[in-house]
Amino acid sequence: MKIHEYQAKAIIAKYGVNVPKGHVAKTVEDALTQAAKLEGEVKVVKAQIHAGGRGKGGGVKVSKGTEAVKANATAILGMQLVTHQTGPEGQKVRTVLVEEGMDIKTELYFSVLVDRASKQVVLLASTEGGMDIEEVAAHTPEKILKEYVNPVIGLRPYQTSRLAFGLGLDKFGPKVLRQAHGFFSGLYNAFMAEGCDLLEINPMIVTGDERLLALDCKMSFDSNALYRHPETLALRDLDEEDPAEVEASNHDLNFIKLDGKIGCMVNGAGLAMASMDILATYGGSPANFLDVGGTADENRVENAFRIITQDPNVNCILINIFGGIVRCDIIANGVVQAFKKVSLKIPVVVRLEGTNAELAHEIITQSGLGNKLIMVDGFGPAARKAVELSTHQG
Ligand code: GDP
Ligand code: MN
Repeated sequence: MKIHEYQAKAIIAKYGVNVPKGHVAKTVEDALTQAAKLEGEVKVVKAQIHAGGRGKGGGVKVSKGTEAVKANATAILGMQLVTHQTGPEGQKVRTVLVEEGMDIKTELYFSVLVDRASKQVVLLASTEGGMDIEEVAAHTPEKILKEYVNPVIGLRPYQTSRLAFGLGLDKFGPKVLRQAHGFFSGLYNAFMAEGCDLLEINPMIVTGDERLLALDCKMSFDSNALYRHPETLALRDLDEEDPAEVEASNHDLNFIKLDGKIGCMVNGAGLAMASMDILATYGGSPANFLDVGGTADENRVENAFRIITQDPNVNCILINIFGGIVRCDIIANGVVQAFKKVSLKIPVVVRLEGTNAELAHEIITQSGLGNKLIMVDGFGPAARKAVELSTHQG
């Protein structure tokens, strides 16, 4: 789960990490009121959306004077902000953060994340701040410093020192150097205590008055840890999330929207991945990832149908269920009932294998939905049939 920059900054500030003073606003008038509370002539108006790359997309504007704040807030609020992370349709800006302008001496990069290979939390830092870290990693990986944190020992001061000197913070004087440990360990502590899976500061800056600050902050949470953090769930912004994904999560379905044409209803994440792969192998394109789970019943199947068919691109559905714990006849009944209830107009290819599969075949064959609800034996043949039907529908 992601949150906005202003929310993330409020959290890290509690861990002793310096951030610029700022306030949020949802209207131009309020942006001006908030700007007036800040010292200095220069303010920065920043679009609050759940995607990075806002600066390049015109969503971050340094504004000198009240008129500039007004013009920039007017331009940014309500805009459809397109960045490399939003997709071509962009994301509507509903909130701006108005911050005091900073006298930036240098922009650096810092993040905390989980390194799956070493099963440790790792701190990454680079002098190449403010730009795409993926680019830096691809072309000049030697410019990325890494400190792995032993989970038993925790982050040690020698590690934060190594990062500080590696970044050349000593060149900015002892005052800056002294802030480094608190800055890095504050972010590490926030990451651990808040149940994050990513905490990224790009850029962190050194200012003319020798302060170390987080100028941007991207924080996302491990959804498996959210039950321990009800206060984090309250920060969720549903306007930023795909409506179909929100509905799916309300029904406890594991759903991710994709841009293809074949809706997928599968039980088990592994089978769901394999289904998407095999559709692609036969030249089809999955419209979603959907794991209906091991307890797929009529209700879940109906909700899944409803969510899949919300997507206007979907012109065919592939149901691929392996009855291990769940019985195929229950799924078949669920599919027939749900098919009628949702009054589906597009063809559905069904492959049911496992416990009570024969019974399931009978239920589908006798449903009278023959030409729309097509039973196919075998994983490969079912996927091929779905691709064929999807292609014919154009
Ligand atoms: P992102 O593009 O979504 O990552 O948004 P950022 O918050 O990182 O802002 C993009 C860039 O805007 C930063 O790398 C800075 O160069 C610039 N920027 C942001 N805040 C300030 C500020 O207070 N003063 C100045 N001069 N530049 C800023
Ligand atoms: Mn940034």
